[in-house]
Amino acid sequence: MTKNASSRKLSVIEPQRESHQVKNSAAGDSPLKSLNRQFDLAADIVGLEPDLRELLKAPYRELHVQIPVKMDSGRLEIFHGYRIQHNAVRGPYKGGIRYHQDVDRDEVLALATLMSWKTAVVDIPFGGAKGGVCVDPQKLSKRELQALTRGFISKIDLIIGPHRDIPAPDVNTDEKIMAWMMDEYGKKHGYCPGIVTGKPVALGGSLGRKEATGRGVVFTIVEAAKHLKLELKNATAVVQGFGNVGSHAALFLHELGVKVIGVTDVSGGFYDKKGLNIPELIEHSTKYKTLSGYVKADSLSNDEALRTACDILVPAALGGVFTAEVAREVECKLIAEGANNPSTVEADEIFEKKGILVIPDILCNAGGVTVSYFEWAQNLQQYRWDVDKVNEELEKIMTRAFSEVHKIATEKKISLRTAAFVLAIERCATATRLRVL
Ligand code: GLU
Repeated sequence: MTKNASSRKLSVIEPQRESHQVKNSAAGDSPLKSLNRQFDLAADIVGLEPDLRELLKAPYRELHVQIPVKMDSGRLEIFHGYRIQHNAVRGPYKGGIRYHQDVDRDEVLALATLMSWKTAVVDIPFGGAKGGVCVDPQKLSKRELQALTRGFISKIDLIIGPHRDIPAPDVNTDEKIMAWMMDEYGKKHGYCPGIVTGKPVALGGSLGRKEATGRGVVFTIVEAAKHLKLELKNATAVVQGFGNVGSHAALFLHELGVKVIGVTDVSGGFYDKKGLNIPELIEHSTKYKTLSGYVKADSLSNDEALRTACDILVPAALGGVFTAEVAREVECKLIAEGANNPSTVEADEIFEKKGILVIPDILCNAGGVTVSYFEWAQNLQQYRWDVDKVNEELEKIMTRAFSEVHKIATEKKISLRTAAFVLAIERCATATRLRVL
């Protein structure tokens, strides 16, 4: 872990012991507390030593920066950005950067922690980090968005690098933003495509990266369906969230013959018990940047989407959507967590009691970071893979991870989530013992 320590002086804030915002659970847990409860549950099963437990839970470094942006109006606005590096014992820090008005330190830390477990579950040579800027990007012009992105990169530049910490897209950030990040980093450090993943293909991005998270979600659904003896043809699904992850997951489910009966985005969404025309909805949402305005199905709110009876429910938007109250009303056989951190601990317990199988985020949505790994490897090798190779390798990694997690869950009679944590903790603990003990 110390290998990634920078000898340069850094503007680092002390980890705060208590979170300032409660937004993830009916019981009042912050996302981080909720996550650490899940970690402790698995650490007890593994019998993890107390010192390693503390070491693995605590973040390595947190950077909080101010980003002044000259707005189109001429006014100067100050935005707050974070890059939190949780753990790099198995490889460089890795994780996306999100732009959202609710971003705060507590959320970024929880998401950084999740990335460490996610990269360990799929066994790719990365650690975990996350970044975020507290901003509603919908309110910015393209010029302001670019200025904000360049300002953020120039402020976190001292702790990132192709062998130190590699950002990627997350909520409200896309390949265009990654291109600006790469360009800004290159101004100081020279041409360096391996500094970010999720770039446009023309700049060294990987074929298949854009679809990767949604594709990975569906690979895990296929595996889970085999265990549930759920015939996917004509099974029903609801997808909450229609961004990059949700829209691709919906499309791949549709291609498998699953009837996607409900989809929503922030504006609300649509329901059709015969199955929605997903390619048409994607066309609509790409053209208008929203699902709103589609007229060929009944409307469905986000709240209703989570409570709609179906076989497969895919939360693919923001965290914390499954509070205990919502969980009690969920009516499905399988939940595939395309989003990060969608379920509170209380919701998880309810799902278990109801016999709903949950494919946890750190397994289910790991396809994105897995193809980020392929992209990074291609950049380092200066060699491009074709899309079939990307998808085949992705399928191999996702199905292997699913079967490893499933095996632990069956042997130890625990949930897939706890089993995924067990696997991640074992892998990170082994690497830590080898490096520092
Ligand atoms: N933001 C994505 C995630 O949460 C991808 C991260 C990456 O590719 O580094 O997994």
